[in-house]
Amino acid sequence: MFEVSLLSTAISVYALGVAVLLFFRPSEQRFSPVAFAGLLATLFVCALAVGNLMGVGPVLHVEYKGESYAFANILITILAMLAVLFLERARREDVLQALKYQATHDPLTDLPNRANFVRTLETALADAEDTNGSLAVLLLDLDRFKEINDTLGHPVGDRLLQELAARLTKRMPRHAMLARFGGDEFVLLMTDVPSASAVQSFARSVLEELWQPFWVDEVILDVGGSIGAALYPEHGTTPDELLRHADIAMYKAKRHHSGFEVYSSADDPHSLRSLTLTGDLRRAIDANELELVYQPKVNLRNGTVTGAEVLARWKRAGHGQVSPDEFVTHAEQCGLIFPMTKWVLDTALRQGAEWRRAGHDIEIAVNLSARLLHHAAIVPTIISLLGKWSYPANRLALEITENAILIDPVRAMGVVAQLADLGVKLSIDDFGTGYSSLAYLKNLAVHELKIDKSFVLGMVENGCDRTIVNSVVSLAHDLGLSVVAEGIETLQTLKMLAEFGCDVGQGFYCGRPMLASAFENWLEFDMPEIPIVARTPQKKRVAASSAWSVPAQAVAQRA
Ligand code: C2E
Ligand code: CA
Ligand code: CA
Repeated sequence: MFEVSLLSTAISVYALGVAVLLFFRPSEQRFSPVAFAGLLATLFVCALAVGNLMGVGPVLHVEYKGESYAFANILITILAMLAVLFLERARREDVLQALKYQATHDPLTDLPNRANFVRTLETALADAEDTNGSLAVLLLDLDRFKEINDTLGHPVGDRLLQELAARLTKRMPRHAMLARFGGDEFVLLMTDVPSASAVQSFARSVLEELWQPFWVDEVILDVGGSIGAALYPEHGTTPDELLRHADIAMYKAKRHHSGFEVYSSADDPHSLRSLTLTGDLRRAIDANELELVYQPKVNLRNGTVTGAEVLARWKRAGHGQVSPDEFVTHAEQCGLIFPMTKWVLDTALRQGAEWRRAGHDIEIAVNLSARLLHHAAIVPTIISLLGKWSYPANRLALEITENAILIDPVRAMGVVAQLADLGVKLSIDDFGTGYSSLAYLKNLAVHELKIDKSFVLGMVENGCDRTIVNSVVSLAHDLGLSVVAEGIETLQTLKMLAEFGCDVGQGFYCGRPMLASAFENWLEFDMPEIPIVARTPQKKRVAASSAWSVPAQAVAQRA
């Protein structure tokens, strides 16, 4: 009798243990009524068994042929054994569920992981094919995440990702799925896409969410991001194709600071269009089929022409004019940027030397792509071309984008120092679209900043742009750098820049990019009147040593 009570107590305590484990199962964050019922039932059975063991429980005896049987104990034992069997099965199921959950979710953010996303995408693609529907895959990559991780540590980076995942989850529309592929890479799936513009406005809303500052460990973090999208069926029919194309679009958005881009085969080095583009571009460089246009740079203090920026143009046989953004990016991707830039430098220095002989002292400014800062032959090539055309080094300016320097500052600093030693002028192009600090640029031996046109185009109407331009001008001057503003389209903008003390201006108002012959004509007859504006004295705002940065998102927001 005592043995039966002991056995039923042992079995029911075991059942209770299993029920407790199930109720507090780690993978299940929601309240489970079944697990709760199991917990209550086993608790009850356990109480009965313990009560019986101690002789205080409702022991029922059945008299049979003069013998007394502990009926309740037998019943309790059977109940407890059934509960154990049932709960064991449930527990095994639960372990399987937990393993499945781990295999399909990202442990940091609890979002679906890559495998899960790809499976869902496969199903969505099959549905879309059956119903003639459309869908979009969007890839989001954070800007500056590495910087945040390196500066504030990985725990802060992790919490930022968790916070971001929570925020974006709240924003997901009904037919959308958010997943994390690792690092700072998030992917979104939109099904039942009504139009490409719906994808764009969804992407914009995600970016706006990102622009709201994040509070992590008492630190306010500003993070921007870049999104690339690929649509089914236009840009691909398999998960692999759509993800690859969204990735290409995302890199374009990063490069252009546009925030969002939709895939285009023109940006894809592996598309058929790109493969033929490479061959055609190589032939065009060899056959002298590229052309150069010259855009005047005007001194805003005295209205004289100080120089010209050289911009490449390509009329592709059978295709018409190819945009410089497209073929320059393509040249960078397929290894043609060096021969292209060599051709540009050669042609521009020949032209510059010719203008010098004709009495025009015009500084020639050539764009130098980021990739060339890593090309061993770039410095010797510049030296040899300056020699070839007997062109003075100090009348050549090289425009290097701010981001080119940020990609690998140590390497860039070495090349920039070598170029500065030659006496060549170095100009930081598209200034304000990256995150460099002025103090840092000062150490780089650069001479000039070119404020990006995205700040200049709307500065008359937009107070924020105006403030940025004004601040860059005064801080650059404090550091001994001269300032060029590009994108001057109106007289009003030009006057305002002159008032701010900006040294040089460039833009459609002063003169559009022109072929060399048209430029000579412009010099003689068409130069617009550049009013001499009295400068308002600049207030000194920040000490000369201060680091100052313009967030890329400020630009993206404007775009
Ligand atoms: P960038 O270096 O920022 O060149 C200035 C761009 O702004 C040029 O575009 C010019 O036409 C445009 N622009 C000038 N004034 C105004 C204005 O008042 N308003 C507006 N809306 N735009 C203005 P473009 O010629 O299309 O060149 C685009 C980019 O292609 C250049 O941007 C440069 O990054 C690249 N690029 C062009 N030629 C070369 C080259 O020979 N080598 C390299 N590496 N890049 C080049
Ligand atoms: Ca430029
Ligand atoms: Ca620019």
